[in-house]
Amino acid sequence: MIAFLFGLALGSFLNVLIHRLPKGKSIIRPPSHCPWCGHRLSWWENIPLLSYLILKGKCHRCHQPISIQYPLVELLMGLATYYIFLREGVSLYLPFYLFLVGSLIVVSVIDLQAMIIPDQITYPGIVVGIIFSLIIGRLISGLIGIALGGGILYMIRLIGGKVYRSEVMGGGDVKLCLMLGGFLHPMGMLMTLILASLSGAILGAILIIFGRKSRILPFGPFLSVGAVITLFFYHQIINLYILTFLR
Ligand SMILES: [Zn+2]
Repeated sequence: MIAFLFGLALGSFLNVLIHRLPKGKSIIRPPSHCPWCGHRLSWWENIPLLSYLILKGKCHRCHQPISIQYPLVELLMGLATYYIFLREGVSLYLPFYLFLVGSLIVVSVIDLQAMIIPDQITYPGIVVGIIFSLIIGRLISGLIGIALGGGILYMIRLIGGKVYRSEVMGGGDVKLCLMLGGFLHPMGMLMTLILASLSGAILGAILIIFGRKSRILPFGPFLSVGAVITLFFYHQIINLYILTFLR
């Protein structure tokens, strides 16, 4: 329960990052305010999840709607924190996994909204991934993961750019995979790329069937979902694969 509440508070901070990073604003100042009327939020309007329900999704002063993104991000991070705490307990992995999942939520929402993946997340993320590999005693494995993830995406970007003469893979996606490689190492990185490509292809096909083919899909959210599934279910997926194909 405490882990869930802590996760909600983390989610609240993620919302600040999501709102301010793409615009290059400070993440510390000014204090939380309504984006419509500038009304500064008092403490009871700033409680994760609860305030959205109390305010019924509207600003207390100007009654403009508050984006559903705020409570969703808080809830998602709350549940993720609870799950990570259940799995890992108070361990070395806990802060790193929280960092990774929190970063991926921020990356996904910003990529969906603005089609960019902010360097302010991926550059520190690459460093944290290397530190993580070092601390758990698998530095070489982490570095190979980074080279593999970044290398594959860079090749796709390079070749795709030459063939189609336009950007098929953003530079942000390459940097995101450099970050992911440090946490997931070579096998996890491969699984992430497979899951991301599969889910991207399936959703892309569905969108084309329903006649929305003009929209270019950001790849960041697919990489993020693939990475989180890999992080939580790596062994189950490997077992399932062996049971299905290698018996
Ligand atoms: Zn307002």
